[in-house]
Amino acid sequence: MRAVERHRFVDSALANQAYEDTSLPIGLGQTISKPSVVARMAELLLDAPGARAGGLGRVLEIGTGCGYQAAVLSCLAQEVYSIERLRGLHERARANLRPLRLANVHLLLGDGMLGFPAGAPYAGILVAAGGAALPPAWCEQLGVGGRLVAPVADAAGVQSLQVVDRTAQGFTHTVLEAVHFVPLKSGLG
Ligand code: SAH
Repeated sequence: MRAVERHRFVDSALANQAYEDTSLPIGLGQTISKPSVVARMAELLLDAPGARAGGLGRVLEIGTGCGYQAAVLSCLAQEVYSIERLRGLHERARANLRPLRLANVHLLLGDGMLGFPAGAPYAGILVAAGGAALPPAWCEQLGVGGRLVAPVADAAGVQSLQVVDRTAQGFTHTVLEAVHFVPLKSGLG
């Protein structure tokens, strides 16, 4: 977390709040997640049943936003594919990440509900937007030993962080603490 300067990812008017543990607006009605949540999700990925001591293999992030979490993941994974449905944010993330020259981060414009089959199988899939259910494509694109970490909303709209592990025997599903993410939406914005 110390390796990635968060103030580079928010508007200069918000830079003085960049090191507080709060989410901040990044435009187009979206927010950069708070650092403790970014760290929590990254730790969960590193604890995947198949994770190696040397770090993760290929990771898919759904919801690039400003690119902050992709930059954090680039320190932990061999390759990071990060997909965003809003062109404005996809381009902003590209501009934010350019000076960092992270050769292992691949930004994609598209509907993350379909995952990104070309990069599969993934050691980890991290979702930064909350939907009512987990799209089947995500679990299908998870490698054996891989882990999916995603916020999922219940019927009342209350989100919880959920973990799906893929083992040789099948999938195991764990529900963790309550969280608050922007909504997962289908199609391009
Ligand atoms: N990890 C980001 C958090 C951005 S907020 C960061 O570090 O800044 C979540 C993002 O998910 C928003 O930008 C939103 O547009 C995007 N999103 C929502 N539904 C999506 C979908 N189906 N595919 C791709 N991105 C999606």
